[in-house]
Formats: sequence, structure tokens, C-alpha cells
Amino acid sequence: MSDPLLAIRDLHVTYATGDGPLPAVRGVDVTVDRGQIVGVAGESGCGKSTLASTVLRLQPPSAQVSGEVLVNGRDVLTMRWGELRAVRWAGASIVFQGALHSLNPVHRVGTQIAEPLRIHQPTLGEARIRGRVAELLDQVGLDPDRARSYPHQLSGGQKQRIMIAMALACDPELVVADEPTTALDVMVQAQVLDVLTELVRRRGVGMMMISHDLSVLAHLCDRITVMYAGRVVEEGAAEQVFARPLHPYAGALSAAFPRIGDPAARFAPSGLPGDPPDPRNLPGGCSFAPRCPRAADVCLPAEPELTPYAEGRAAACVRVGEPDTTEVAS
Ligand code: ADP
Ligand code: MG
Repeated sequence: MSDPLLAIRDLHVTYATGDGPLPAVRGVDVTVDRGQIVGVAGESGCGKSTLASTVLRLQPPSAQVSGEVLVNGRDVLTMRWGELRAVRWAGASIVFQGALHSLNPVHRVGTQIAEPLRIHQPTLGEARIRGRVAELLDQVGLDPDRARSYPHQLSGGQKQRIMIAMALACDPELVVADEPTTALDVMVQAQVLDVLTELVRRRGVGMMMISHDLSVLAHLCDRITVMYAGRVVEEGAAEQVFARPLHPYAGALSAAFPRIGDPAARFAPSGLPGDPPDPRNLPGGCSFAPRCPRAADVCLPAEPELTPYAEGRAAACVRVGEPDTTEVAS
């Protein structure tokens, strides 16, 4: 059997901070196969961006990392610099949270899309590069003449399409998209996400798509991993995690965004009081227990392990399978 495209194994990432070590990711496993879109969901602060940054070893020097991040079976965490450079862009590429602010204001967007091509495919001539830029613009739904525009001449949605064109320029096998559209208004978000996932599907690229919005992920992804306080609390087929969540946190996220693609239905997780814990000061026992409507004494002694259930699902909650006596997320 061939290696999965991306296999993150027992990943731990701890930041050194002035207030002591901050464990942002604590023993996470995620697998992405070729042609598969895997969603990672969770509120702000759950460790999603930290996880994404390790896929291309882009975490800051203050981060101490252990575990494995295997791209095509090769661990990017221990790769030599030359090999890592080849994996970045050409093997795997990343669309960052807030990326549309990272376009260079003084260069035309066509020049910026061409940049990774010039670096990674130096034998392509100017004419081929121009042709490729025009093709990429067309694929993300922009007029090829847009290559001559400067970033300030484009709307937020158009800029985000440019970022997607850049991420796809070198035909990566794997794309990591970290909340690629959160800066955009909801209607534009839906269009841009459709463009991105359509391209990914058509090319058979694998993708890790990060969002706090479970309904969007349910619509676009094959599988979903739900993170809370740096750990995976639920994993399974996308529509099942959304429609029949096992973990109460996945239930709260699902109830927060009940209707797929309905802008009116978007609001912060209601019925879920408080915020995720400070990773420097975890509550002990299940880290979701202080906010959980189903918490009981059984949740307090130890953090629950991610446990397999039927249909390729897994959840980290000791109360899964017990009759639900609360009114929480249906
Ligand atoms: P998310 O993307 O889910 O919002 P992050 O990975 O950005 O989560 O953050 C996870 C935790 O790590 C948070 O508590 C955040 O404050 C902390 N964190 C993120 N980046 C750094 C950093 N460079 N230095 C110290 N702490 C960080
Ligand atoms: Mg983030």
C-alpha cells in the first residue's frame, strides 16, 4: 500500500512564552489521502493554525515540535533544507489565514503568481509563464487581463482568488488552506470556497481545509477532524460529524452553524458558554468539561482518549453512547 499523501502522527507543538510553556497541539493525528479534502474545525485558539504551520515546517523558532509530519512518507520535520524547499510550493502549498493582506502592493498580481513558477520551474520561458498565469487566472474565475492589476485595484474576493492561483501555480499534490475566506463577506466566501474545492477535486489534489464553521466543512470535505484545546476530540466522515456528532463539542459547533451555506444562520457557538481554556492552564481531566452540558464526575479524573466507534468514527468523550438526558445539540 502506498503512503498517504499527508500523515501527521502524534504531533505535539509547545511554544516557549514569557509565561511558561504553551502546549498548542497535544498528540494530534491527521491523515489526508490523494484527492481527499479533510476539514479541521474548532474555535479560535484550539491549535488549528499551529497544526497547519507544521505541514511545511513554518512554525516559529519558539515552537518545540515532536511527532511526525509525513508528506508522501517523508518527514518534513527532519528533512534537509534542500528537500524541504522542494516540498514547499511544488509538493505542498498553503493558503494562510489572512493571506490576502500578504500580496505585495507594489507588484502586479501576474508577477506575483509567476514568482513560484520562476523559482521552481526555472526552465519555463517567459511566454510559457505568461500563458500559465493566464490559465490560472481563468481557472480561479478571473479575467486573464487581471494579471496587470495591482492588489489595491482588486476586491477582497478577487485577491483571495489570486492567493489560490498562487497556491496552485506549481501543481502541488497537497494544499493546506487555513481559514482561506474568513476575511471575506459570506456570499463571496461561498464562491471562493467553491472555486478552491472544485479545482482541488478536478486536479485530484489532497487538501487540509481549516475553518471554525462546521457547516461549511460538512459541505466541502470528505472527512472532518474536530480540535479542542490542542487535541482531536472527534474524527469521521464529514456529513456524519456534522449531522450526528458524537462529542458534545462537535455537537455545539454543529448547532452553531445549523444550515449549510445560510448566512443568516452564522453566529458564535450558542448554548456554549465561555471560551476554550488557556493552554498554559488546562483544567485537568477532560478539557471541555468546564463548558460541557453533559459533564459529570466521570469526566474529571483524566483526559479522554480518542476512541474508535462504528463507521470509521472516533471521539474523545467518556459519555459517548450513554443516553443523553440533556437538551444539548441534537
Ligand atoms: P487557532 O488557529 O485554532 O486559532 P492557534 O494555533 O493560532 O489556534 O493557537 C493555539 C494556541 O497557541 C493559542 O493559545 C495561541 O495563543 C497560541 N499561539 C499561537 N501562536 C503562538 C506563538 N507564535 N507563540 C506563542 N503562542 C502562540
Ligand atoms: Mg488560526
